[in-house]
Amino acid sequence: MFLFQVPPPTRFDLRFSVAGIPVRVHPLFWLIALLFGSGSNSLLGILTWVAAIFVSILVHELGHAFAFRRFGQDSQIILHFAGGLTVPEAVSWGASYARVALTSNQQIAVSLAGPFAGFLLAALVLAISATLGGTVVPTFLLGFIPIPFVLLPPAWGILGALFIALIWVNIFWGIINLMPVYPLDGGNVTRYALIQRDPWGGLRTSLWISVAAGAALAVAGLLFLQSIYMALLFGLLAFQSYQMLQSAGRW
Ligand SMILES: [Zn+2]
Repeated sequence: MFLFQVPPPTRFDLRFSVAGIPVRVHPLFWLIALLFGSGSNSLLGILTWVAAIFVSILVHELGHAFAFRRFGQDSQIILHFAGGLTVPEAVSWGASYARVALTSNQQIAVSLAGPFAGFLLAALVLAISATLGGTVVPTFLLGFIPIPFVLLPPAWGILGALFIALIWVNIFWGIINLMPVYPLDGGNVTRYALIQRDPWGGLRTSLWISVAAGAALAVAGLLFLQSIYMALLFGLLAFQSYQMLQSAGRW
């Protein structure tokens, strides 16, 4: 998967670990985060967005990593130009290496843990905002999907901007990732749910769903959100799923 391949290490990688989980940040991650923050009209505003995107994607991946750990599988996190990845690590098994074999339900739980870790963080920031005097109001994604948002007094300044960015990025990134498009988290959920019901045809069906949903989301992103990013991302993913379907005949 060219979009989601593990990028090779560079000497500009930032490396640290969270609760024993190794994290590597590829330099291109910062470039994409800067592009997303470039709508701000001040340097501080841009840095606020970069910080919010960094924290949000890290928390999302930590959700996956902790779910893996719950099922006995070690993993490492890589933040790269298309978002993040949590890669299960092989463990030494006698003379060779092996990965823990997860059941379909465990795979589904690992996939859902990412978006829901983000929703949890958004809910926490919303709760703190409301406690400190903000007003929680509904806003509508694509004009009809209600998502909670918060109005903060202007005196909050940069802290208010950070809170709003955190809420927005976590909810948006979670919803994007829940779409049934391979290899996003939602695509993995449909894949494992369908394979469970139909071990032979499940994978093919999930790839067809991925092609259709990806194409629909690319068009919706362009028409309703005027988002070139969404159009490109989902267009590429739909095409990639289609290619996998073509080669699936030869498996
Ligand atoms: Zn994820």
